[in-house]
Amino acid sequence: MPNTCRRFVFAGVLIAAIGVAACSHDGSRSEASASAATTSQASASQNSAAAAKPAESAPPASQTGGFDGAKAYDQVAKIVSFGPRPPGSEGIHHVQDYIHGQLQSFGCTVDEDDFHASTPTGSIAMKNIIAKTPGTGQGIILLLTHYDSLGSVPNFVGAEDSASSTGVMLEMARLLCGKKQANAVWIAFLDGEEAIIDWDKDNDHTYGSRELSASLAVSGDLKRVKAAILADMIGQYGLEIPRESNSTRWLVDLIWKTAAHLGYQNIFVSREAGYSDDHEPFLARGVPTVDLIDYDGYQQPKYWHTAEDTLDKVSPRSIAIVGHVILESVAELQKKFH
Ligand SMILES: [Zn+2]
Repeated sequence: MPNTCRRFVFAGVLIAAIGVAACSHDGSRSEASASAATTSQASASQNSAAAAKPAESAPPASQTGGFDGAKAYDQVAKIVSFGPRPPGSEGIHHVQDYIHGQLQSFGCTVDEDDFHASTPTGSIAMKNIIAKTPGTGQGIILLLTHYDSLGSVPNFVGAEDSASSTGVMLEMARLLCGKKQANAVWIAFLDGEEAIIDWDKDNDHTYGSRELSASLAVSGDLKRVKAAILADMIGQYGLEIPRESNSTRWLVDLIWKTAAHLGYQNIFVSREAGYSDDHEPFLARGVPTVDLIDYDGYQQPKYWHTAEDTLDKVSPRSIAIVGHVILESVAELQKKFH
């Protein structure tokens, strides 16, 4: 995930240009190639992390609206076990097969969008994977996560960034696929969020979300999207999600109201912070979109975009709570757009 740039939004016009002054992006370390780490090295370190019991456990699913935090955490562990998964790598191919297989086993209709991204290191094959649940009407509620990991840091397996949100969305698919509701729910697993070389140069980021938003615009489906909810880095201990300031206000309000109603005011906090992330291509095309992200907490222990982003940094309780809030917010959106 994303850049630390604070962005300004003027009268609803999103400034899409990159390279705003005063950005600091620690992730711009670019000395290593995308596949610097071997899968076996990463797997060895992951296995030791996976063996450790998490310091917090997920509440029973009955306390989180049916969202099973333990299952979501197991998905996070599984994603991490494949090792580094930068775009075009062997690791990400395994993860793609795994996500696809899981979605099929949940009864989802699964679409894959294979595309070639033009990056500073040349063309890279990428893949968005979209699980589709049926709707009785024309509307779509879109859930988003990226699943690639940063390739420029050796041994980076991205447990928090981005396995945590990928695990949440897989569990969401388990719950929602096969359920016919007023609005279809599409759950998109996006490739290529991370910079290949440098986030702040050459539009080198958010390849998957730019591709999906463009392809949905071409197909005409984008007009059907009532709301989009992006999750990114939402699994850490001591989670605090600020109101992301570029996000669509009414949608932020709906989610924060839902979270407060469920008693999670200490996690969905009232302070604001703005980030550049996969929500921006959708906002730029007029889709009401929110980014659920705790960048600051992740930054505090300084393990963001380091090889220290391992499974032991992910709390089953945090992902259970975020899953609960997203699930209930989808239900609120179903009512709102019935
Ligand atoms: Zn990242």
